[in-house]
Amino acid sequence: MTTSWLPVPDGTDFPVQNLPYGVFSRRGELPRIGVAIGEYVLDLAGLAAAGLVQDRRWFAAGSLNAFMVAGRPAWQATRSRLVELLTEERHREEVEPHLVPQAEAELHLPVEVSDYVDFYSSLEHASNLGRILRPDAEPLLPNWRHLPVAYHGRAGTVVVSGTQIARPYGQRRAPDAQTPTFGPSTRLDIEAEVGFVVGVPSSLGSRIGTGSFREHVFGFVLVNDWSARDIQAWEYQPLGPFLGKSFATSISPWVVPVDALEAARVQPPAQDPEPLPYLQVAEAWGLDLTLEVELNGHVVARPPFAGMYWTPPQQLAHATVNGAAVRAGDLFASGTVSGPNPEQYGSLIELTWNGERPLILPNGSARTFLEDGDVVTLRASAPQAEDVRIGFGEVTGTIVPARPG
Ligand code: CA
Repeated sequence: MTTSWLPVPDGTDFPVQNLPYGVFSRRGELPRIGVAIGEYVLDLAGLAAAGLVQDRRWFAAGSLNAFMVAGRPAWQATRSRLVELLTEERHREEVEPHLVPQAEAELHLPVEVSDYVDFYSSLEHASNLGRILRPDAEPLLPNWRHLPVAYHGRAGTVVVSGTQIARPYGQRRAPDAQTPTFGPSTRLDIEAEVGFVVGVPSSLGSRIGTGSFREHVFGFVLVNDWSARDIQAWEYQPLGPFLGKSFATSISPWVVPVDALEAARVQPPAQDPEPLPYLQVAEAWGLDLTLEVELNGHVVARPPFAGMYWTPPQQLAHATVNGAAVRAGDLFASGTVSGPNPEQYGSLIELTWNGERPLILPNGSARTFLEDGDVVTLRASAPQAEDVRIGFGEVTGTIVPARPG
């Protein structure tokens, strides 16, 4: 098994097989690019200044965007050089000065998010929401099995893990009322998702085929798509989610490289009917990630990402099939990840079945939707080669009271 000369804790999210990228700073210093290894951040700007990694002004930067534009050859060369530096004892002395304890590092939003798209690619989640919201109709709408349904979200309100989430105000209409009222959301929810980040842009009028995913996509993050169900329910027809989602979307600070997830690739569920040719994928692109949803310190769900019906290459192919261009920093989220069993649901609206069955936490407290002060943390792990597991770190957020305008 490949190991680093740097001791890493057993079960760490960040063994040398992972090496996710992020943006960090120490007190009084400018943000720059680093890679997580065990309990440390390896300072890539420092390594570059010392001539230990090749750099074209990629790493002394406040976001990963410049490095992401450099493309797959640069990503692969950097990754293999970092493995060499961290595993060969002869490099130890020159690398050690560039290790910063994670406890001393503030983590920032890793990418400057250009556009943000949120899919709806879990068959179980889409079916559950259909049953809850339209109990007298077919759970899935007619288009669902033919294309990965999505909407454009708000890139400017994508925030890094740890950012407080203020309960949003908005219009909502009670089920038995004729007119809406205005006030803080009373049905604030989470959506546990996994997103991918584009590095290499495409040009207007071109498509990214399912076979070109790796040439464009830099890596994956965890996403919590905070959702105000009451605002969403009143506003969403006919054009889709708007203010019920746009107040905040949290992502994890570490971007796990696509190459770190090769061993996690699995056959996704069979698709019936067979998708149109532009959505067909030669390789197996399910990803065997196990998510964990923690509410106030208690794990309330473990959604399995391997069961997602639409896979990331299909999502990117669909998003560009009309000639729409993508840019570095575009974030594509999967949609809520839910499995077939209730303990695998990735949102509170499913876990409590629209509030009808409160969750009872081990300390005896009951939850339907989120209350002020609640802390939600998402985690994920994936198998790697050599019996190692890698992790995504976490994305966490605390709900704070609504702020009156
Ligand atoms: Ca979502």
